[in-house]
Amino acid sequence: MSDRDRRSGVTGGSGAGHGGGAGTEGARPDDARRHNRTAVLRRLHLGGPCTRAVLAGELGLNRSTIKAVVDGLAESGFVSERLPARRSGAGRPSLLVLPRPRSAVALAVDIRVDRVSMALVGLGGENLGRLSWRLRAPAREPREVLTRVIESAGMLAEELDTAVVAAGVSVPGLVRRADGLVRESPHLGWSDVALGERLSAGLRIPVTVANDAELGALAEHHRGVARGAADLVFVVGDVGVGGGVISGGRALRGAGGYPGELGHMVVRPDGRRCHCGCRGCWETEIGEAALLRALDLAPGTPRGELVAELRELGAKPAAALTRLAEFTDWLALGLVNVVTMFAPEVVVLGDLLTALPQPVLGTVADRVRERSMVSRAIGHTRVVRSALGTEAQLVGAAELAFDPVLVAASGV
Ligand SMILES: [Zn+2]
Repeated sequence: MSDRDRRSGVTGGSGAGHGGGAGTEGARPDDARRHNRTAVLRRLHLGGPCTRAVLAGELGLNRSTIKAVVDGLAESGFVSERLPARRSGAGRPSLLVLPRPRSAVALAVDIRVDRVSMALVGLGGENLGRLSWRLRAPAREPREVLTRVIESAGMLAEELDTAVVAAGVSVPGLVRRADGLVRESPHLGWSDVALGERLSAGLRIPVTVANDAELGALAEHHRGVARGAADLVFVVGDVGVGGGVISGGRALRGAGGYPGELGHMVVRPDGRRCHCGCRGCWETEIGEAALLRALDLAPGTPRGELVAELRELGAKPAAALTRLAEFTDWLALGLVNVVTMFAPEVVVLGDLLTALPQPVLGTVADRVRERSMVSRAIGHTRVVRSALGTEAQLVGAAELAFDPVLVAASGV
């Protein structure tokens, strides 16, 4: 294996596009230069193409600095410049600075209870290729999942004739951030799986693993409905229920890097027994099983049927409010607690919760406004559906992978 292959990890074909032939000789870049390169690259990655003047204005840098940074990034292969497709106004049009998708490609993996989805995502967020497969026991065994993820990553890279520089993985469960150890994932039936280390060894690239709700929050913050909000909570309602919190622009994590588990906040002490050992967790009251009970659907009803039933109810406001009255109560009660604790500007509801009828969401938002002193104080927390839907975790996993890549690219 050549040095280039070793650096590139998962390699397809010629391994084109790894950093674009960057020059590493010469003096080590100083901190300000690195900082500015990362800031420009991050802006282009998350915000899309723009002119040098816009970059200068948004980042508070003077034009000569922006010119030097953009020229350097173009030389390293990360950006290109071209005339805009449409001219606005008279005079010479300004060149647009664009991220080059294949200059840095990340692998995003979303492991769910019933499905694994993977995507190769280029700099700028472009989805270059993807695949997914259904997951059922015994294929849910960590060894099986790991093997298939590694094989599939190689296939995707080969097909696209590209190299992959890093990977991000979403898992529903408690994940130790430092090394990607899945401490406990009750719905996958995993405990103490060294997912990060094993995937990193198999793919030969840096792999970061995180909790699914935490990645949903990251996705909504960077590319979703909560873009621009420094304080937000993402609530993922699936078989399990979880929550990711971004506070002051940073993901909130607890001791050991474990995220909080909002789904196991007790809302009903005399409620049903939860697998975690408590009674009446939020998950037992607003998870998939609770929705099936509320709609008199049998346990194990396919997700498609459940969603279709919810959509149908969307056209019957009175029936929706009646049939989902108790569900609405528990969803609202939990959200009032969450808003009171974290004071978010916006709460984003993800996955199955996006299929809830509008009258239910309206009622929940009203209750949060009425009952949370904090919500009133901060000028009303918005409660909204995720627009990324089931893609949120995959988008978040890509951003998780890109974070260190953008920093490393600044030193190239
Ligand atoms: Zn629980």
